[in-house]
Parts: sequence; structure tokens; C-alpha cells
Amino acid sequence: MILSDSAVLAFYTTTDDGNMAYYTTQDENSVNINRSKLSNKYGFNLSALRYMNQVHGNHIEIVDFDSPNLILECDGIITKEKNLPLMVQIADCIGVVLYDSVKKVIGVAHAGRNGTFLDISSKMITKMNESFGTDSSDVQAYLSPSIQKCCYEVDVKMAEFVSHNFGKDFVSGRFIDLQGINKMQLIKSGLQDENIHVSDTCTKCSKEPYFSYRNDSKCGRFSCVIMLKDYK
Ligand SMILES: [Zn+2]
Repeated sequence: MILSDSAVLAFYTTTDDGNMAYYTTQDENSVNINRSKLSNKYGFNLSALRYMNQVHGNHIEIVDFDSPNLILECDGIITKEKNLPLMVQIADCIGVVLYDSVKKVIGVAHAGRNGTFLDISSKMITKMNESFGTDSSDVQAYLSPSIQKCCYEVDVKMAEFVSHNFGKDFVSGRFIDLQGINKMQLIKSGLQDENIHVSDTCTKCSKEPYFSYRNDSKCGRFSCVIMLKDYK
């Protein structure tokens, strides 16, 4: 579980749960089976699941029961609906899970390198505020297991780009710190430091049960899921 709160269900899947993304495989049915098992394991309604095709952009949508299950051309989704689980699928990228514990608003975003450069984490907070009146100081943020600065090696140009645009603290040689940049963006958006929970598990080198694209470009995707529960 990502967090312990009676109002939400939130968890990361592992390689044991299997591939969660249709776009990585020809075998659609295997994803159906994996997701079905997941819904039984955690007790959510699979037909309500909302997820994205994730195009490394920063487009964000508010979703509800009228939205399609698959949200196209999108890297962030937000809802205030109960029993409407949101999923982001990842392997090395950062899954950002957001929870406004006061207004009861949730969101997930896909923050790879591009999404991070496009400031998707901050844009999620802005959208939650504009749409539902979220006060950023009430938001809990969880950054999933993902490739960390120990392993995220880029070319010299990219390292210089990161240093120039985000600061030299986020670069060590040719290794970059996407988690640090996302955390900085969330703090700039008004989140409290203690409300930002960054997993220090590196998907590439930790041997923890998460898919890593840099270890295997044909790998599946694990996922972050969050749902507001119908609590009393
Ligand atoms: Zn590593």
C-alpha cells in the first residue's frame, strides 16, 4: 500500500502482478487477466478503472464515470469521484500519485523525462486547484519506484540541459535526478516538504520486483493505482 487512509485505496503493483499495459504487448488478454486478478486482490471494480495511453506530454484531464476507460493523448488524470480507480503504468518513469486529503481529490501522472521537463507535477496541482479548489498544502504526493540518479545516465548535452534549466544539484556527471526535480516542482507549487514521499527504490539496480525499461526494453509495465473509497 502507498498510504494508509480509510478514504483511499492506493498501491503499486509489482512484477508478480504482471504487465499492466496494453501498449507493451500483442497479447491483450494477458493484460485483461492481470488487471482482473488485481481488481480481485485489492477489491476495486475493474470496469471503473481509468488509465491513459501516456504520450510523454503534459496534458491532464478531469475524469468521471462518463469518461472512457482509456483516456487518449494524456499523461495525467484527476477525479473527485468515489470508486473510480485511476492507474498510471510505468517502468523506470515516475508514477506521481496525488491525494488532497481535505477536499478528497485524487490524481495520477506519468512523469518521465519529458513530462518532468514539461512540469507535469506542478500542472497537476494547478488543475486540482482550478477544478476542485484544492489547497496545495493539503496534498500528499507519492513518487513511485523509478530509475534514480544512481542509474539515470544521459548524454552530455542532456546533462547540461538539466543543469542549466533546473540546477546543478540535479546532475552528477551524466546522471540526472528526476525525482529531485519533481520534488522541487511540487514544493514550488506549495506542497509541504513532509507531504512529499519519494521512493528511493531504483527500478534499474535495486532488484526489487518492478519492471525496468533500461534493463529490458521489451518489459511490461507495473502501475500505481489510487481510488477514493465510499467511506463513512
Ligand atoms: Zn540505480
